Amino acid sequence: MPTMKITDRLSKGETLLLDGGTGSELQRRGANVLKGATTDNIWKAGWLKAWSATANIEFSEVVRQVHKDYLRVGADIITSNNFFTIPSRMNSIGLGDRWKEYATAAGENAVSARDEENPEAYVAGGIAAPTMQSLKDTPVPDVEYMGEKAFQKEYYDHAKLLADLGVDLILAEYLGFVSDCVAAVDACAETGLPVVLGIRHIGKNGEMQYPYSHQKKPAKETLQELTEALEGHPVDAILLMCSNPEAISAGLPLIRDSFNGPVGGYPNIGYNPTGPIANTKMLTNQLPSEGKDILQTQNYPPSTLAEFAAKWKKAGAQIIGGCCATGPEHIMAMKPVVKD
Ligand SMILES: [Zn+2]
Repeated sequence: MPTMKITDRLSKGETLLLDGGTGSELQRRGANVLKGATTDNIWKAGWLKAWSATANIEFSEVVRQVHKDYLRVGADIITSNNFFTIPSRMNSIGLGDRWKEYATAAGENAVSARDEENPEAYVAGGIAAPTMQSLKDTPVPDVEYMGEKAFQKEYYDHAKLLADLGVDLILAEYLGFVSDCVAAVDACAETGLPVVLGIRHIGKNGEMQYPYSHQKKPAKETLQELTEALEGHPVDAILLMCSNPEAISAGLPLIRDSFNGPVGGYPNIGYNPTGPIANTKMLTNQLPSEGKDILQTQNYPPSTLAEFAAKWKKAGAQIIGGCCATGPEHIMAMKPVVKD
């Protein structure tokens, strides 16, 4: 367990190195992260299904090794592989009643890897948005779709379970709507742990929830609206995530100038997560990543990502890492500029 609270280090002005992608790294190492997904069902009832949730038990040693590799190359923070271990996502593969087993395994994998590799590192309990209503023709916030109570229960139950396992903060991530962010922050803060927000899919001009090509009526909220809505709510840092590096560069000044707390980013670098099953559909509409490759890392080699990291640090980012398709090699390259 770290001797100093993460919030103390951030308020002293320190910059912390976050890990890189976990699900994509597991996929690269051969773990099945698309359990229950087929060509026919992948777009139904929750795109990506429960994603890499089942790997926490079926490939727990691989998950632990990914965490350890990130710590070995210098990450100050690792994120537990809880992305979709929440009940609504586990339901999509028929394991809704067993979500706690998988969520617990994910928390334990991360905490034990940290304890063994670097006790001074932080474990973020990473919880992603429950549904994919944002992918519909007319995107809908999860809070609106599920009801705020049910949405907050998913976040609170999950965050509480992780807090009891010894994580150091909650990372409420992969959120795209203002109302979802506010509700998630309030629910996670009930645990008493610091809460960090991860905002997904920033557009190239720093807009929230970039439109997908098929959407008739894209969501049009702004980062300024987000920070205004969060005023008075217990959020300890805001990070922009799972967006391409240029979008992070565009969005960072917007949150830095409108939010009175630490900011940061962790980009994806082009990724086709469903490659093995449905290789025509892409996670992001912003990158030249058409094709069969699962990991399209050639667009942003580690040295390029390190250059972005240097710019983000200069722009005031205090937590910097990677999302989909980034691996330990990217985090290793970012370390000297983030930690100089
Ligand atoms: Zn991502």
